[in-house]
Formats: sequence, C-alpha cells, structure tokens
Amino acid sequence: MANPNLDPRRKQPGDWIPAIDRQRCEGKEDCVAICPYDVFAMRKLDDTEKNALPFLARWKARLHGNWQAFALRPEACHACGLCVTACPEHAIKLVKTGSR
Ligand code: SF4
Repeated sequence: MANPNLDPRRKQPGDWIPAIDRQRCEGKEDCVAICPYDVFAMRKLDDTEKNALPFLARWKARLHGNWQAFALRPEACHACGLCVTACPEHAIKLVKTGSR
C-alpha cells in the first residue's frame, strides 16, 4: 500500500492560505482562537491599509479601533477550514497558492 504522505496530490502546509477581506473583518479574533497552527495575529490597520478601504469600510474599521486579523504565518496553514467557518463576518476564504 502506498504511503499517503508521499502522495504528491496530498495537501501540504501552505498550499492553501487564508485571505481576509479587509472590508468585512471586525477584529473579533475567532480565527486567532480557533486556528490550530497559529496562522493569525491581530494588529491595527496601518495608514496605507486604512486609505485603501472604501469610505464605509474605513468608517466601520474605525468603529472597531482599526483592529483586524492578519495571516502572519500563512505557510503554516493546513487548510482545515476552521477559520472560514468560525469567522462571524464571513471574512475569510482559502486561496490556492499555486506554489507547489
Ligand atoms: S484553514 Fe485551518 S490551519 Fe489554515 S488558517 Fe484557517 S484554521 Fe488555521
């Protein structure tokens, strides 16, 4: 029987990474709490990130202290999908990196 760990079709860490919609994230930190691989961390949006948002999203971000989640260790993502379902704002989706 073939070793599944040697199967090149098997997902490897970093094959899929979380993408966070800056217009939806409200900094509730559910992704930070649920990710088993510590992919996420919280920080404030910097001025460039704030200025990139449309007016209403910028206003909404300010209501939440510009506090948002960031995928600081995307290479550790195992594509389990827990963050996607945990986010109450539906702000996270997994995207294929195409790096392998
Ligand atoms: S899919 Fe799983 S491993 Fe990847 S960031 Fe989300 S919770 Fe973490």
